Amino acid sequence: MNTFLPFSKPTIDEATIASVADTLRSGWITSGPKVAEFEKQLSDYFGGRIVRTFNSGTCTMEIALRIAGIGAGDEVITTPISWVATANVILEVGATPVFADIDPVTRNLDLDKVEAAITPRTKAIIPVYLAGRPLDMDRLYAIASKYKLRVIEDAAQAIGSTWQGKPIGSFGDFVSFSFQANKNITTSEGGCLVLNNAEEATLAEKYRLQGVSRSGWDGIDVDVLGGKYNMTDIAAAIGLGQFAQLDKITAQRRKLAQHYFKILGSDFEEKTGAQLPPEDFKNTNWHLFQIVLPDSITRPQFMERMKAFNIGVGFHYAPIHLFKLYRELGFKEGMYPIAEHVGKQIVSLPMYYAMTEADVERTCVAMREVLQG
Ligand SMILES: *Cc1c(COP(=O)(O)O)cnc(C)c1O
Repeated sequence: MNTFLPFSKPTIDEATIASVADTLRSGWITSGPKVAEFEKQLSDYFGGRIVRTFNSGTCTMEIALRIAGIGAGDEVITTPISWVATANVILEVGATPVFADIDPVTRNLDLDKVEAAITPRTKAIIPVYLAGRPLDMDRLYAIASKYKLRVIEDAAQAIGSTWQGKPIGSFGDFVSFSFQANKNITTSEGGCLVLNNAEEATLAEKYRLQGVSRSGWDGIDVDVLGGKYNMTDIAAAIGLGQFAQLDKITAQRRKLAQHYFKILGSDFEEKTGAQLPPEDFKNTNWHLFQIVLPDSITRPQFMERMKAFNIGVGFHYAPIHLFKLYRELGFKEGMYPIAEHVGKQIVSLPMYYAMTEADVERTCVAMREVLQG
């Protein structure tokens, strides 16, 4: 029997493990020199923009909303197809989440529907780059500037992705990344936020650590309500080791995605009724390789049958507006039909750096059998 092929798995090299051990022995294990070095390297990569690290991707979005002064009475537009964190942060700051339906091909926000959802109370958009696939960034920022909206990019899955040759994060407004264990590069848990200026960076530091402002000779003062969101040097040591491999990781994922298309063949959609993702090897970092199943098979059936081939399948994501918490806010079935269909039938096939082309082939053979057999 084949060994189990998971849908995702982190790869931590020996140099990174040694660096974590050095950090543990150094006597300084919380935020310190490794965090400073990681922030500096990220900033260089994002074209010199200011970057601060945190202990999750989720809190970076909450903090960006707070820096933008968004709260009660304000509306924030986002997609129903994301990890629930994307909408939860809007509720966390007391604002109102407003969903717009997705584009069935990209599975990202449909920008026509975003524009239609804008009201005088709209203050921000949180676009999500599902699977690492950017939106039409020119159009996104044209809408933001036309209606004077802030943008908090949920680029949790998009490190290494680009738009017109520029890395996601190197332009735009707030850009949030996650380094959670399954992301393309990881710190085990963690995240970073790209900011616009020194004032925002100072506020980000306050929200990151109890609102403490350093005031030199007379010690400290606290002037805003902050939380406890700092990254440790242990996590940053992992991040530095991972970041050094970002280009290699992105290239390998693009190669594996290309291999999926090649092995599935141009008649796959026609033969199975499944929908492949758009073929893009320039911008997308291929955080996930997702297909939308035909209605003739349910997702649990597909997952069960793939499991019989010892292949793991992921599920990203259920429509946020149909969770109990959101239904209680008035959202209901039928409001975002494309998101509801995609959210029911989307599956993530195995995709990670250490995977081989043979693993892709094995997955394709199993999938043909499950969908056509
Ligand atoms: C992972 C992820 C998050 C949350 O990041 P954490 O680091 O787990 O807090 C948010 N949005 C999307 C799209 C993600 O994939």
